[in-house]
Order: sequence, then C-alpha cells, then structure tokens
Amino acid sequence: TQQAPGFTTTNAPQQHGGDELLGGLLPAGMDRRSCPSRYETWRYYKYFPYAASRHLQRKLRDYEARHRRCAPGTPLFAKSVEQLRSGRGADDGGMECSYVVWLPMDGLGNRMLSMVSGFLYALLTGRVFLVALPRDTADLFCEPFPGTTWRLPMDDGDFPVANLFPRSQDMDKSYTRLLDAKVIGPDMNATAPAGAPPPPYVYLSLGPRLKDSIFFCGEHQLVLRKVNWLLQYSDLYFAPSLYAVAEFQDELRRLFPAKESVSHLLSRYLFHPTKPVWRLVARYYRSYLAPAKRRIGVQVRMFGYGSIPADDMYNQILACSRQENLLPETDVDDGAGDEQAAAMRSGNGDNAGGSNSTAILVASLYADYYERLKSRYYEHAAKGGETVAVFQPSHEERQATGNSAHNQRALAEIYLLSFSEELLTSGRSTFGYVSSSLAGVRPTMLLTAFGHKVPEPPCRRAVSMEPCNLTPPLLGVQCQGKPVDKEDLARHLRVCEDSPKDTVKF
Ligand code: GDP
Repeated sequence: TQQAPGFTTTNAPQQHGGDELLGGLLPAGMDRRSCPSRYETWRYYKYFPYAASRHLQRKLRDYEARHRRCAPGTPLFAKSVEQLRSGRGADDGGMECSYVVWLPMDGLGNRMLSMVSGFLYALLTGRVFLVALPRDTADLFCEPFPGTTWRLPMDDGDFPVANLFPRSQDMDKSYTRLLDAKVIGPDMNATAPAGAPPPPYVYLSLGPRLKDSIFFCGEHQLVLRKVNWLLQYSDLYFAPSLYAVAEFQDELRRLFPAKESVSHLLSRYLFHPTKPVWRLVARYYRSYLAPAKRRIGVQVRMFGYGSIPADDMYNQILACSRQENLLPETDVDDGAGDEQAAAMRSGNGDNAGGSNSTAILVASLYADYYERLKSRYYEHAAKGGETVAVFQPSHEERQATGNSAHNQRALAEIYLLSFSEELLTSGRSTFGYVSSSLAGVRPTMLLTAFGHKVPEPPCRRAVSMEPCNLTPPLLGVQCQGKPVDKEDLARHLRVCEDSPKDTVKF
C-alpha cells in the first residue's frame, strides 16, 4: 500500500491496509478534495479491531438514501417543516420523513458522544438525523452523508420552533412534561382530547439530570413513533441504554455482533475533521509522532468534583503506569548517558525515530504534566536504552467551548490521541472516551478522585473501548408499571469501570 509522507512501514496500518473505505463502513464516491481526512485517517489509525457487519453496511447505505430523500432542500423536508409550522402533528401519526434533531450541550467530547447516540437511534427507528450546529462547532466536521447535508437550516424562520435552545428547566415540551400534561402518552386515546393528533415536536431531555428517562421504555418508544420531530438534548453516550428497549435488541445485535464496536464504528463513520482541523492533525503527527516506533497517548482531565493537587495527580499517573506497565520506566540512579551511548553505538539512539523509540503525547488543558514527564525522561535514561520523547500540542488552560479555534485544537488532539498504540485516559472524561473509541483501543483509565481523595487503585484497564453512559439511565424508572429488570440488563451491558455502579456500557 502507498505510504503517506512521513510514514515508515512500521507504523503503517496492520489490517485493512489500502482500504480507505474501512471495509465498507464508509460510502464510496465522496469528494476527496473537500474533505481529505475521510480518505486519509486510515493511514494513521493503528488498529482496525472490528469490521462493519454486512447488516450495518446495508443499513448505512439505506440510511444515506433516506437522508438524501428527506434532507433540507428536498420537497419532503419542506413538507415536514410545513407540518411543524402548522403546530399540529400529522393526523395519521406519521409523515414520510421523520427526524431526530441533535442540539448541542457541553464540551466537544460530550457533543460527539450524543451525536453518535442520536445517530444510532435514527438508524434504529428509520428517522433522519440532523444537527443544529452552533457557530463554534460549525467548521469542525465534514458532511458525513454523500450528496446531502446533515445541517438543520437555522436562519431566521427557517426552522419554525421558537427558542430552539431552551434552558433545560424551561423545557416545557419535554416528553415527560407533555406526558404529565396528558398531551401525549401510551394511553393517549384515553387521556388526550378525542382525536387529538400528536404534537409536531417533542424535546427529549437525556442530559445529566435525565428528565426523560422513560424514553428508554418500549411503550414510550411506540408513542414517540407518532411524533415527527424529536429534538434531542443530551450530552451523554446513551446508546447502551437503548438496549433496555426490547424492540431494539435484535437489531442492535445484528448491526453490532461485537457490542464493544458500536461507538468505535459509528464514530469512524460519522466524524471526519474539516481541512483546517486535519491540517493541524497531520502536520503535528508527521513532525512529532510518526518517527517513533510506538505512541502512547496520555490524556489528563481534572474535574472540579475530583480535583487533587498536581503532585498527587502526577504520582497517580506514575503509579498507574507502573501497575499497567505503560510508560517506559527510568533508571533511578541515572547512569545517564550510558544506555543512550550504547544505543548510539548500536545505531539506535540517533533520533526519536529509532527502532526502540516511544513518543508520549500529552493532551491536557495544563502544561504541568507534560513538563514533569518531559523532565523525567530528560533527567533520567529510560531502561533498555529506549528513546523517549514527550509532546503536548497545546495547553489551553481553560475550557472555551464557545470559541471555534479552541474547539478545532480540541478536536485535533482527540484525533492525535486516537492515533496511539496505547492510551492512558482520565476516567469519566468524554474527551478520553471519544479518543479511545476512534482509536479502537481499550484504554487504561485513571480513576477519579471522588471527594478529592487520591484513588486506590490509581487506574483500571477498560473492559471495552466503549464509552460509559455516565448517568444511571434507568434508576427508579418504571416501564409498563414495573421496575426495569436489572438482571436482564446486566446480561447485555457491563458496569463502567470508572464510575459508580448503575452506570452502564456495552
Ligand atoms: P469532558 O469534560 O472531559 O467530558 O470532555 P469535553 O470534551 O466534553 O469537554 C472538555 C472541553 O475542555 C473540551 O471539549 C475542550 O474544549 C477542553 N479540553 C479539555 N481537555 C483538553 C485537552 O486535553 N486539550 C484541548 N485542546 N482541550 C481540552
């Protein structure tokens, strides 16, 4: 296979070599020039652990055809918008095209995970997935579907929902509120005014406080089928919770025979960085990471509720690394230079690209951990004459989700992490989750310092490359008047290794 400049045979992809469409996951025939990343990322990924099943491939191609039929700019879209403008749902319960509209919430990792989840839901329910991209996210991702757009037109009056982005407490059209107001419901005919059509749109609040957790009950899915427009407010990876809906289980099994491949495959399918982001990624990778024999991504995220002093955090990273045998160990009583000199003599130590070289890529809002790791390998030789170089593309100091250049750098770093052979990420961070999913790597996750106490053990190896659904989705929920059968769910889902129990993942 042809190598991209800056690549050596050792870091070329191992499987799917030469298959830029990722084994039928991606559609053929899209414009290369407008979105080069779509055709180039396969050269950078180190693993291709799961191919798209035939069923998933068929389903995606069908989806793409449906999207083209129903997308903004088509007569069917215009018809659906007119229906919405009329303020009434369709009397016969459905229009030819029905939609999930994704609304932004929280940081980039959160947004990407809720996009993957919403898209999966659209696949399962025959809907069309549109995104209400705010300005700060508008130029991050290429169009994912051929010959059409996934962007919801949002100029004045284009989309007739006033106040499309309500604060969550104002969400009076959320499903549960409408249910309480008896505007809609499983026993709709009994409670709603006789012959009343369903509302034209419903908000789904699947965010942190998960107001609409009954969404994951089968009987409510039946009701929602009649609603043309679902406006999805979520910052979570809620895909695992869809397993609670009996009607979805068979289809999920057919689409993803390996459960842990859901987010991996759908993220690689859906996300393709735009040119400006891809330029950052490719330039950085070639300059700093490509020459090394192996790359370890280290992502350090500190949450307010789990903050600890930087010394403690750094020690946690080192303790984890020792426990999982991750970062190269150093010779404590230095011998500085002896090993290096030997390596030089044997021709291995001439640069960071020798046959025994490791690049550590640090992604963090702060420079501190990068500085410490860099000093570690500057002041001490790595065991075995290994050459270790430490890099950090940016340290933004604070999250600035409203700023599009900041988001571009964040996305670039998510991709750079995803081109690692191994990942050490921060537990509970969606930024880390997305990197692992894209990479196809089961990361080692630093555990959160709940109550500001340094966690013991310092980290755990993830049981799957899937993100955790961080909010217990079905806690206290009654489906068909009965509590959810947790034992049954436990047979399909796993408990997240980085979060309190009751959170689940594939
Ligand atoms: P989470 O909060 O860790 O779940 O991840 P999110 O991506 O949802 O939100 C964190 C946001 O903070 C990111 O989207 C970035 O805007 C910023 N951020 C956090 N960590 C990093 C980092 O390592 N690099 C960069 N460039 N930005 C980061």
